[in-house]
Formats: sequence, structure tokens, C-alpha cells
Amino acid sequence: MALRWLVRGCLFALLSGVSASAWAQDTCPKAGTLGVSRTVEIDTTGGPGFGMEHYKAYDFLQDKEVVLTFDDGPQKYATEAVLKALADECVKATFFSIGKMALGYPEIIREVAKAGHTIGTHTWSHKAIAKAKTFEEGRAEIERGISGVHRAVGGPIAPFFRFPTLVDTQEAVAYLGKRNIAMFSTDIDSNDYRPQTVDHLAKSVVAKLEKRGKGIILMHDIHKRTAQALPIILAQIKAKGFKIVHLTAKAPLVTLAEFDEAIEKEAKGLPQVGAERPMSSVVKTVGGAAPSDAAANDASEPEGLPAPAEENAHAPTTPLPAFPSASTPAEKSASPEASPPAASSATPGKQSSNEPSGAASASAQPAQAAQPSALPVASSDGTTAPPPSMTTASVVRTVSGNGETEPSGTPAEPAAAKSEPPAPHKSLMERAKETWKLWFGE
Ligand SMILES: [Zn+2]
Repeated sequence: MALRWLVRGCLFALLSGVSASAWAQDTCPKAGTLGVSRTVEIDTTGGPGFGMEHYKAYDFLQDKEVVLTFDDGPQKYATEAVLKALADECVKATFFSIGKMALGYPEIIREVAKAGHTIGTHTWSHKAIAKAKTFEEGRAEIERGISGVHRAVGGPIAPFFRFPTLVDTQEAVAYLGKRNIAMFSTDIDSNDYRPQTVDHLAKSVVAKLEKRGKGIILMHDIHKRTAQALPIILAQIKAKGFKIVHLTAKAPLVTLAEFDEAIEKEAKGLPQVGAERPMSSVVKTVGGAAPSDAAANDASEPEGLPAPAEENAHAPTTPLPAFPSASTPAEKSASPEASPPAASSATPGKQSSNEPSGAASASAQPAQAAQPSALPVASSDGTTAPPPSMTTASVVRTVSGNGETEPSGTPAEPAAAKSEPPAPHKSLMERAKETWKLWFGE
């Protein structure tokens, strides 16, 4: 009987012009969802800046167009819920991930990549670049973030960068320009790090969007409230006729070998993409009662998660300490938001020995990256003027007006796995427990 209905269903699907796979699967685009209205491709040559709060060069959004961005992740609870909310509405976003977080939660950042979202970076440990004691320290924070996220994703990422606390420096802006990495500020800051109800957060984001009419929205995929507000925000965006624009990169980001090598020590034990084995295939309960994963998966994220440093974005209330190149255990407890569980047992302090010294790294400028012929001009107020020869049309190109194309900066299918056997890696439950301990004590 069931078979007969299945055959009838397939026949109906074929006759009505719907492919069997689309009929059988709940895939995007899907009727009734918000969807992606336009996919744009960004030529990051010369490090163009986006987001009118700081970089006023390229105002590529049309009226009612919205770009969704999420900083500071990945983090298990919030990122997974954010991914679900985005998938439910068939929309794509850009994630500015932190290197340490990505190596702490590689399986989550790989889910982000697999879902077709664009992944940019947001430094190694969320240290303020402007507070770096030397240019090399700031550069290492940027590059280690890039190599860390790249290693965790296990495939290409986009040459998109957002400064922690949205504070840049002229030196760093010029450096990113030479590296052909685009910089993103924001148009609409959700202020989702501030304690507030889910309803208040959703209403305030939608109100700001309505007032401005369009824009790049900054949120954080580390807060439970953000994940809970997102479905409400997306429903409102849909109801009010706003449209989602998906950002992709024309070419993937080129990492620097010296930082890849340093990061490999941090990533010790992390299997390459495709080499992972599900825990159930590695560890099997053969006697006694099997423990449930619930302890790790159902532990609800407490509301009191540490706020990211974005709260200092406009008016730092307390001076931030100048950061060393690698966090110390003491610093870990002082700024827990930037301290996900380490991906390896190597102590953070050890990493400093891998840091390039000024002279050594100065000669190791990005050889792979083509030097742009024209660099953006950083002004004293932090804004970036476009090189004279570049127009918005030459930097931002619509590659899809209605459906979706595969983002060039983020592969739908991660790079082919190497055939090395999976090295021991901490289980999800272990890391969840460590995170808890790190943030909330025993
Ligand atoms: Zn941040």
C-alpha cells in the first residue's frame, strides 16, 4: 500500500513538472521563504571597505536590500541555531569567525561552510588591533585568525575581514589592502551583546533597518538571544518587503605559509575535512547503560555568556591591555569570550615561539597574493577612499539576481580530504564541558 502511494507521488511529481529530488527533499529555494534575492561577487583587490559606519566607498546595496553578518563564532549552541534559522528561510549570511573559536569548534564552522554561507575572519583571539604594541603583533593577530579559520574550515574562505570592536588602524588598513582582503564595518549594529529580551532585540533591529531602509546588519552567533531573535527578525524582514543579498568573493583568500605552519601546531589532532569519523563508530558502549549525548547537547546556553568586545566599539569604557601574541592562562579568564577550548593540548604560551619576529616576517610578505596596482587611501578618520580607477561596479558585481549561485569564496563541498588517519581529537562532549568550565568555573 505504502509503495503504491510512493509510486503515485513520484508520478504526480514528474507529471506536474517537479523533479523527484526536489519533491522528495526540502531544499532551497522554497516557496514562502525569504530566500536570497541577489548574490554579489566582490573583487577584493586592493582591500575595498564596506559598511557605511566606517568605509563609505562602495554603497552597493539597493533600497530594501539587507546583508546578514555574524561575528565572533563559531560557538555550538548559538551558531547551530543561527544556521537553522537561516536554512528555514533559505537565506545566506556572512560569518566573520575567530581563529581560536573555529579551531575549538571545527565541526560547527564546517557546517557553516557546507550550508553555503560565506566565511570571513575576525582575528585570532579578538584582540583589538589598535592596541597592539607593534605592527607585527597586529599582523600576527590578523594572519593567525585567517590561517586558523582556514584550517578549521578545511577549504577556501573569503578574503573578508572585520576588525574587532570595529576599530581599525591606518597601518592595518594598508596591510589588508596589500593582502587584497576586503574590510567590513556595518550599517546597522544590532547591539545584541547587551542583555535584553529576545523580543526587544528583534524589534530594535527591525526598527533600525526600517529607519535606514537597507544595510549590512552586524550580529553575533555566540548569543542565545541572537539565535532566538533571528527567526523573528527574518519573518519581519520578509513581511516588510526587505530582500537578502548574499556576499561572495571573486577569489578565495590566500593564506601565508608561515602562519599556516604555526596554526598546524594549534590544530594538532584535528582531522582534515572528510577524515572525521562519527564518535559512534569510534567508541561503542558494550556494557552498562549507554550515556546520552543530552548532557552535552541539551545543556542550554546560559544567558550570561560573556559579551564580545563590540560593546567597546564606539566608546571604550575600560582601557584594553596591550595583547601579547598568544593569550596567557591569566588572560583567558580575563577575556573568556576569546578563549574557546583549545583544539590541542598545546599551551597557548608555547605558540609565541612560533610567532614571527619583526625582521623575519617583514621579509615574508604575501608572495602569493598579487600586489594591487591601486591601494585604498586610508584617511585619518578611518574611512577608506577608493582608488581613483575603481568604481562600485568594478568591485561589486551581481552574479545572481534571483536564485543562488555557489559562492566562490566558500565551497559547498570542502576540499578533498587527505587520506591520513584521524588523529585523536577531543570529543564534542569534552569540549562542551571545557567551555563550561572556562566560562563558569567548576
Ligand atoms: Zn567581534
